[in-house]
Amino acid sequence: MNFHILTLFPEMILNGLNTSILGRAAQNGVISFDAVNIRDYADNKHLRVDDYTYGGGAGMLMRAQPVYSAYEAVREKIGYRPRVVYLTPQGKVFDQQTAKELAREKELVFLCGHYEGIDERVLEEIVTDNISIGDYVLTGGELPAMVMIDAIARMVPGVLSNEASAESESFEDSLLEYPQYSRPEVWHGKAVPQVLLSGHHANIEKWRREQSILRTAERRPDLLKKARLTDEEKKLSTSR
Ligand code: SAM
Repeated sequence: MNFHILTLFPEMILNGLNTSILGRAAQNGVISFDAVNIRDYADNKHLRVDDYTYGGGAGMLMRAQPVYSAYEAVREKIGYRPRVVYLTPQGKVFDQQTAKELAREKELVFLCGHYEGIDERVLEEIVTDNISIGDYVLTGGELPAMVMIDAIARMVPGVLSNEASAESESFEDSLLEYPQYSRPEVWHGKAVPQVLLSGHHANIEKWRREQSILRTAERRPDLLKKARLTDEEKKLSTSR
């Protein structure tokens, strides 16, 4: 899967993404990051990418022309009109389901705004998805793009070394993940739950499922409405 990021700060994107698990996956060619510097496409002498907003008001706006030219360069390279995600606090709030859906794309373009945002006219022409990472305002779209790319990339086959680990994680089946423990067996006087040492796989699975339900009921009861629970599990979810 190829991620194309239209940004004024390519080094921020590349430093952030070419690290750890995603960096290794990029090195192995499973995914690629292409950070496109919008400034390189400005058609004026001073490579100016922002300007005043019509109608007045504080702050500068990113101009339509360099954003459009940067997009056109990516579109030509890809050979078709790709899906373009504009990171914006005015978008649909990003979640695991959206990450899963976007992970099916072969090419994905992310448009990062800065300052007061971007001239509406270019957004109308190129953006296919308006997505927010939460109800707060950040200074730029770079961190939101990295958050989204991280969540999407780890669903691409071959990015995680142990694919099963993505399947049992939080939000799968609208449940949070169960608590986990590593060595030693006792730490600060707290012992690992006995069932996990038993080697009895069915019991371990049962315990984990119950813990997932209890944890979701305690921390994110809103998620439980979408979870597929048996009658017995529904009772468990209201037991504490
Ligand atoms: N004036 C804009 C508004 O009120 O909707 C906010 C502009 S914000 C200061 C600058 C850029 O940061 C935006 O264009 C967007 O790309 C990014 N951004 C800020 N908050 C975000 C969020 N919660 N989710 C995604 N992107 C965000």
